[in-house]
Amino acid sequence: MTPQHTNSPVSSLRDWLRHLGASSRLAVARDGVRLEHELAAIAKRLDGRQAVLFPRPDGHEVSVVSGFMSRRAWIAEALGVEEAQLLPRFREAVERPVPWAEVSGPAPCQEVRHEADLDLRRLLPIPTHSEHDNGPYITAGLAIARNPDSGVQNVSIHRLQVHAPRRMAALLLPRHLQAFHRSAEGRDQALPVAIAIGVDPVTMLASQAILPIDHDELEVAGALHGTPLRVVKCLTSEVRVPADAEIIIEGRLLPHTRELEGPFGEFPRYYSERAYREVIEVDAVTHRRNPLFHTIVPAEMEHLLLGSIPREASLLSLLQRSHPRVTDVHLSVGGVGRYHLYVQFDKKREGEAKNVILAAFGAHYDIKQVVVVDTDVNVHDPAEVEWAVATRFQADRDLVVVGGAQGSVLDPSTTVGMPPGDDPSALRHQGISAKMGLDATRPVVYEAHVFTRVRIPGEDDVDPARDLRAFEASDAAHWIG
Ligand code: MN
Repeated sequence: MTPQHTNSPVSSLRDWLRHLGASSRLAVARDGVRLEHELAAIAKRLDGRQAVLFPRPDGHEVSVVSGFMSRRAWIAEALGVEEAQLLPRFREAVERPVPWAEVSGPAPCQEVRHEADLDLRRLLPIPTHSEHDNGPYITAGLAIARNPDSGVQNVSIHRLQVHAPRRMAALLLPRHLQAFHRSAEGRDQALPVAIAIGVDPVTMLASQAILPIDHDELEVAGALHGTPLRVVKCLTSEVRVPADAEIIIEGRLLPHTRELEGPFGEFPRYYSERAYREVIEVDAVTHRRNPLFHTIVPAEMEHLLLGSIPREASLLSLLQRSHPRVTDVHLSVGGVGRYHLYVQFDKKREGEAKNVILAAFGAHYDIKQVVVVDTDVNVHDPAEVEWAVATRFQADRDLVVVGGAQGSVLDPSTTVGMPPGDDPSALRHQGISAKMGLDATRPVVYEAHVFTRVRIPGEDDVDPARDLRAFEASDAAHWIG
């Protein structure tokens, strides 16, 4: 079960961009692309095919980069493993974290320091992404804070609306950063927080690990890198940040302060509504010389994969605890990397697949649909999963439906009973969701060939370099006429 390393993990964002550039996977936009919509439109057009570097957006001297982890295969490559080893490698890192190491002396992320006359939009090229977004947002910032009770750090990504020179509004979901903030707020104190922008893809992925509170995601980054992550203390707080990050914003989550945030186009490809949210006041900005500003275009592949791969790794581990013959899982792109789970399972007894479905319903509240397939079906290929449903599933006996469960509040279909006129009492139904499970496994025992998948002997051994050549003009004369 120990994953095979094919290469070393990539150690820096700039190394990774050079590597993408050398293999035709990094495009360069024309100078001066507009930060409002145009930059995101261009990045979206190349989503999953090429990352894009944007020199001097709106004339800003800082360049923007986007889409550098927009394919599953690229992320595996950045980690130095085969794609099939991505989940086992991530899981191993979660189970064996490596503590970070503090650098002595100057850190690259603090080469240039701004502490007076701060204006985020003057210092940084912050794009406005979707049509109805309420202005510019930082979408690829790692929010790092210390638990005020234990001192252990936490890392998470939050959308950050930049609505004043030194103020950002953040969406905090009920997870670790919110718990830290509530704890500090209970003592009428601000919570120091740092936002790291422009880190390598391995650290980006590690930041999304699903861990218990007081488990530091930067230690998962160290494990994935195979070496302690270099960190440095912030200028204005005790928070430690990745020393090799491009840009650090230092600030405080204010107590008893909420300001209007949104609307903002989110991962399900719908907008989050405008509401009062937590506020970060900025105290300093530090960065490398000639820094790169990373932006993630919401709902595009970079966003979905960052969320889905760490979730897949933890779902696989969770399901295997009660069902060791679960062999692989996938959160599909069409299911926004959150809602639709495909499970590959080595079924030995009738009925087992339904138990796996029920376990998956309980594994994460976001999961809305579960399809269980046999081990001859590749769960990372939606067409294969659909084939299994088409040929191994009957709705009257293989379907499991559970109504009235907890779902995702960002799923607009969970809003029920909303009468014309926007009765606010109807809003409390949001997030109540039905769960659907499809057992698309074949029977354990079946008559010869009924469920045998058609194969052509030798189909996996064809070598195009040996067996084929390009069509030439003379071939037309010889073979077609
Ligand atoms: Mn955490």
